[in-house]
Amino acid sequence: MSKWINFLLQYCKENKTGKCPACGKTNVEVQEHSNGNRKSLTFLCKDCKASAHFDGFLENEKNATKNR
Ligand SMILES: [Zn+2]
Repeated sequence: MSKWINFLLQYCKENKTGKCPACGKTNVEVQEHSNGNRKSLTFLCKDCKASAHFDGFLENEKNATKNR
């Protein structure tokens, strides 16, 4: 999963997808899910079927900056 961290960071920063960390192609689909105030992201490469799921990281980030 850690291979996808850079992909995730680029997606959050530039709001666009990069290269699949497994096969290097750019045919990666992003699915965003909202559960109340939690948000999760799923990345799925349509070429090699590699995938990664990140859950609730936006909320964690907010909590960290609030420091309450
Ligand atoms: Zn791939």
